[in-house]
Amino acid sequence: MKFIFVSGGVISGLGKGITASSIGCLLKSRGINVSSIKIDPYLNIDAGTMNPFEHGEVYVLDDGGEVDLDLGNYERFMDLHLGRDNNITTGKVYQTVIENERRGEYLGKTVQIVTHITHEIKRRITGVARASGSDVTIVELGGTVGDIESMPFLEAARQLGRELGREENVMFIHTTLIPIMGSVGEEKTKPTQHSVKDLMSIGIRPDMIVGRCSRELSESAKAKIAMFCDVPEKAVISCPDARSIYEVPLVLERQGVIDYIIEKMKLGPMTTPRNMDSWERFLGNILEPEHHVEIALVGKYTALADSYLSQLESLTHAGAERACKVHVRFVDSDDLLHNDPAEILKGVDGVLIPGGFGIRGVEGKIVAARFARENGIPFLGVCLGFQIATIEIARDVLGLPRADSTEFEPGTPDPVIFIMPEQAGITHMGGTMRLGAQRVLVKEGSKAAELYGSTDISERHRHRYEVNPAYIDRLEAAGWKFTGRSEDGDKMEIGELEGHPYFVASQFHPEFKSRPGRPSPLHQGLIDAAMAYSKDD
Ligand code: GLN
Repeated sequence: MKFIFVSGGVISGLGKGITASSIGCLLKSRGINVSSIKIDPYLNIDAGTMNPFEHGEVYVLDDGGEVDLDLGNYERFMDLHLGRDNNITTGKVYQTVIENERRGEYLGKTVQIVTHITHEIKRRITGVARASGSDVTIVELGGTVGDIESMPFLEAARQLGRELGREENVMFIHTTLIPIMGSVGEEKTKPTQHSVKDLMSIGIRPDMIVGRCSRELSESAKAKIAMFCDVPEKAVISCPDARSIYEVPLVLERQGVIDYIIEKMKLGPMTTPRNMDSWERFLGNILEPEHHVEIALVGKYTALADSYLSQLESLTHAGAERACKVHVRFVDSDDLLHNDPAEILKGVDGVLIPGGFGIRGVEGKIVAARFARENGIPFLGVCLGFQIATIEIARDVLGLPRADSTEFEPGTPDPVIFIMPEQAGITHMGGTMRLGAQRVLVKEGSKAAELYGSTDISERHRHRYEVNPAYIDRLEAAGWKFTGRSEDGDKMEIGELEGHPYFVASQFHPEFKSRPGRPSPLHQGLIDAAMAYSKDD
């Protein structure tokens, strides 16, 4: 069992997750089996109840785990399928320890952070690594070194280093910020020195330092960091702002990061010749696009792009397949209520309505769906977006002006979207949703079947409400065909509007399984239609 721990210093938001994912991506390109764990030092059990506006999107895994969005980066960069146990939070650790204590499992001992909590952390980390069967597990330590919250995790990591052997089985990579100051633009290494000192005071000597800086680090800055932080010069890595996150693996590789890790961890015998060709092609298409389209993303958390991270990545993946740069226009759905939608959506080649919860912004999204439907603009609705499209069609095409979801209007005379019977009566938050990968049967000959190249697919879900079966016949007669259904046939999963170039929506979230080189088929459909639309313009 080998581990690479990735910690962060100086400030949060350094892109530790991207560094960790990139290292995993590179190890994988040499044939080494990798897995990854994200540690979040907050007391929430999982990200399920967290506000995307503060925290970024809630990412959903096959097993229904609602986790930190960094796990999305891991899945995308390393092409993995992770499970909820790959996200360890303080909440999960404490919950287990407290439950053990109540069951009397500690035999009357005093239950403490060091020993009991750290033991549980180590148990979880090694358990995931063992179950994954991987050669190397990359563990990202959330938070910043020096935070009270991350202390038990760092201590557990230190102990693992001691137990498994620092020589070749456990490596520590510390990511820090190197700010540039003053008129001469000098790189300041002092914050890095201090944060490494913090790390050393806990007993962890980093093996590698990744310096985030607005530009390439100079040789003298690298030498200074190497000297004061006591690492070899070749283990000081420069990670300047990249043009695309997908460039980071190559930036790291050029500096010998992977060779260094392979040598240090004695991974040599497991390696195969490097294989990054398809990644390089993918990146080339992102950096040097031949086409451009603009997609309006209509949501309510548009101030924080991270709230829709997987949507944005899916658009990038789909665009890259066609050497097409996808420009995203963030549209606050409420703006569509107070302004002319033709003005706000002017010039866009497609409209995307992502998932969401709660009534705010709903009516504006209905305006956007209607505008796309009536004007033949390519449209993709995801989860809430699927429900919005259904409500819009029920109101405008079926002539049911008060059609709604019972989520927004419990007393609506036409509940075209309602709570799933098996969920009715459950009112507390968390754990009450239809979550994770579910089989979807797709109708032969449909657009979706063509895009997926299959009629039997599996996609991830996160919803409480669904299409009310009482309205299905009328909606289909009006041209809103449900071409994807759940295995039991009861739940509507995909809608396709007849007679429109591309008006498609899904109850599931195709964005969570989109990967570089293997984009979400429904996003690919949107981009292809948007490219055709922009040509006709
Ligand atoms: N609020 C809707 C539901 O619970 C949609 C959820 C979503 O978009 N993820 O069904």
